[in-house]
Amino acid sequence: MTKPWIEGRFEENVVFTTLEQAINWAQQSSIWPMTFGLACCAIEMMAAGASRYDMDRFGAGAFRATPRQADLMIVAGTVTYKMASRVRRLYNMMPDPKYVIAMGACTVGGGPYFKYGYHVVKGVDLVVPVDVYVPGCPPRPEALLEGLMRIQDKIKGKRINKRNGVRVEDELPIPHHSGWVDAPGGDAPLTDHQKITKS
Ligand code: SF4
Repeated sequence: MTKPWIEGRFEENVVFTTLEQAINWAQQSSIWPMTFGLACCAIEMMAAGASRYDMDRFGAGAFRATPRQADLMIVAGTVTYKMASRVRRLYNMMPDPKYVIAMGACTVGGGPYFKYGYHVVKGVDLVVPVDVYVPGCPPRPEALLEGLMRIQDKIKGKRINKRNGVRVEDELPIPHHSGWVDAPGGDAPLTDHQKITKS
């Protein structure tokens, strides 16, 4: 017979904690990511949610099909300028408090399209405020889970109490740069195969 996990192990008890810690614990243990993928990195995100890596262990396996019910946006894949306004709109539709993971080299800074990808946004932090960056092309599911745990750390440290009678709100991080990125000039290509030849 299998032994029960916690049943019958403890006497009746009282546990003390703070309201802030209880709320943060509940929130960090039930992150709902949005069902949302833009390119190849999304396949790794799907792998992270599947049985081998099992994102449900962190309480974050309930991918929501609408931004109205999601509090985590995992931007997984290349963000083109055409898609950027949609990404921003989806972000705006999510309820607060909300968090963003930039997954993969494309999302973090343009990735393989950094130099000649005229259509690619050079970092999704030009579009939405990013909380955690997960580099790689693509990052493995373990890396995404690491990023998820850093989001949990952030929620754990969130302050929701009143201080001196005033409600203190955490501020969303502001991207350290914003605006349009100029297309690369006539510099030498990064690698040989990127050379543009006249046909
Ligand atoms: S970082 Fe690599 S794997 Fe991810 S979307 Fe860009 S090209 Fe694809």
